[in-house]
Amino acid sequence: MKLEDIKVIGVVGAGVMGHGIAQVAARTGYEVVMVDVSEEVLKKAMELIESGPFGLKRLVEKGKMTEDEAKAVMERIKTSTSLDALKDADFIIEAVTENANLKKKIFAELDRICKPETIIASNTSAIMISDLATAVERKDKFIGMHWFNPAPVMKLIEIVRGALTSDETFNLTVELSKKMGKIPIEAGDGPGFFTTRFINSWLVEAIRLFELGIGGIKEIDEMCKLAFGFPMGPFELMDLIGLDTVLHIAEYMYEETKESHYAAPITLKKLVLSGYIGRKPGSRGGWYDFYGIEK
Ligand code: NAD
Repeated sequence: MKLEDIKVIGVVGAGVMGHGIAQVAARTGYEVVMVDVSEEVLKKAMELIESGPFGLKRLVEKGKMTEDEAKAVMERIKTSTSLDALKDADFIIEAVTENANLKKKIFAELDRICKPETIIASNTSAIMISDLATAVERKDKFIGMHWFNPAPVMKLIEIVRGALTSDETFNLTVELSKKMGKIPIEAGDGPGFFTTRFINSWLVEAIRLFELGIGGIKEIDEMCKLAFGFPMGPFELMDLIGLDTVLHIAEYMYEETKESHYAAPITLKKLVLSGYIGRKPGSRGGWYDFYGIEK
């Protein structure tokens, strides 16, 4: 397949990442089909695309697009609760919950439903692409396409080849990323690739420092911003990423590597089990809310 053959992009999972990816693809001019488990989730995702903090309304207000263009972007996005709606998609980006078994189940179904030439990409943060690829026959057309949050804003896409990903699939994913205004960089396949291996260690270490009483949540965030010039501290970043996602990644990284510095801290588990999963729909709040800390 060539770049110009891609007309329809499928997005599976309409959460924090999926809705942002759908927005970017539709803004680039692609027809988008976005799939999730319920109409309610899809409605919320469409609202966020239209008027969320990184949505189209903001772009209109900033003069980056006209109201008519924003309307056209919205009209290019169709939603469905069935994977069958992706039968005509040329390129699929999966962004469901970070769980290998769930993702593999979806990939096996997509492999059956989609055209033979369709490329399937996973936005997994950490799970090895060569492992996820075991769920499909088309291993040459399976690849990691790791976006960053918020998807409409962040420039990098970490592209990860599985052991059997073809050069054609890799080159096409690079070209597609560039067409969508992103900067693709290749990283090797291994638990957490490059970026997650790096960032999750930092997030987990911040929680450990808090648990040890070495720093408070706000103090650690402030120190990271003031000492290192980071735009956000680790606790603010976890609230944006989703604490449940940080936990899934920590558990996966530890299971795969048995390196104790990746293991999930108890405090993180406690918050997630109590419904504090960050700034996302259905959450009770994040670190600052749980501990009643003023920002
Ligand atoms: P999220 O919890 O916000 O969204 C996941 C979505 O998947 C939910 O809407 C859920 O309903 C949906 N889903 C679950 N089972 C499904 C199924 N069977 N069919 C269709 N949809 C289903 O999670 P997220 O933060 O968007 O993360 C999604 C993926 O992106 C994960 O693999 C994560 O590791 C990765 N990722 C996350 C971030 C981040 O900052 N949050 C950044 C980069 C990559």
